[in-house]
Amino acid sequence: MKILVTGGSGFIGSSFIRMLLESKDFFVVNMDKLTYAAKGKNLEHMKISDNKRYKFVHGDICDSRLVEKVFEEEKPEIIFNFAAESHVDKSIVNSYLFEKSNILGAGNIFRSAIEHGTKRVVQISTDEVYGSIKKGSFFEEDKLNPSSPYSASKTAAELIALSYHKTYGFPVIITRSANNYGEYQFPEKLLPLFITNLIDGKKVPLMWSTENPGLNQRDWLHVEDNCRAIWFVSQNGDDGEIYNIPGENERTNMYMTQLLLDQFGFGEEMIERIEHRKGHDFRYSISGEKLKDLGFIYNHLDLKEEIGKLVEWYKNNSDWWRPLKK
Ligand code: NAD
Repeated sequence: MKILVTGGSGFIGSSFIRMLLESKDFFVVNMDKLTYAAKGKNLEHMKISDNKRYKFVHGDICDSRLVEKVFEEEKPEIIFNFAAESHVDKSIVNSYLFEKSNILGAGNIFRSAIEHGTKRVVQISTDEVYGSIKKGSFFEEDKLNPSSPYSASKTAAELIALSYHKTYGFPVIITRSANNYGEYQFPEKLLPLFITNLIDGKKVPLMWSTENPGLNQRDWLHVEDNCRAIWFVSQNGDDGEIYNIPGENERTNMYMTQLLLDQFGFGEEMIERIEHRKGHDFRYSISGEKLKDLGFIYNHLDLKEEIGKLVEWYKNNSDWWRPLKK
């Protein structure tokens, strides 16, 4: 089976390609623009970029002619659209690239897929499309209420995909996953930033105020479980359906910070209090009932154990992350 993965050089996409290539039945084409987020050369570091069942196309999904050419030449049977600008803080400073790649770029993929009669497209989305929830959890049919330009751009792409499903029968599935963590995450995101700072004996910047001393809550999902769940719904889900992929591990940012400080034997003196970001969502929580009803089973639910392994990985792979912090 030939599979097109866009944004496959980033954090989740590279983990997804590594998983796919474990099966001899798949040939994977990765189309990636190689933004700053791909600077780590994850696939090269994983030693799979020269795999005979892997092909790289350097390109931007906003380039509709190139997208069309890739569809024409490769004729993928299934597509996973991971390509996106993904850092919320960057979207607050300048949202232009987010609107371009996450909405217009996604639209190019959808239209070419329709044109070529592609059997299935999986649009990778996020729990952030729901916005914040004080109590309880969001279900797939709940109202969308994004807070940042990033999450608004992901919401827009979803709505375009679903409108194409209603209008043209576009065979799309949407996944909304929680906060991913794992190997090869760019050290701008909370866990790798904190871990790599602590390895270097530097303080960790925690968003803090007297009313909200680091109590924002996130649901932590191991990247390998996310990749397995994305593949699982692509094979077992239905066209036009949305699937939440929670992490089943909701924790406050303060809890996660303390967990890391404990791993390094440091105390709270290593926390640098910084202002909350504008529109900082307090809590994300999504229900995984639909995913579980479909039969998905998690492999990595012991957060403390997984974080311990992750800290070891970053300690042993400073050749990968150190150049990215410059
Ligand atoms: P990432 O920033 O690590 O990787 C994104 C990749 O997309 C990079 O390789 C980049 O070069 C590529 N890219 C960006 N714009 C492109 C364009 N116009 N054309 C082609 N390639 C382009 O992001 P990630 O954390 O791996 O996230 C992947 C997807 O998962 C995104 O769609 C994101 O919205 C979604 N998601 C991420 C999380 C998370 O916790 N990281 C959670 C839920 C959903």
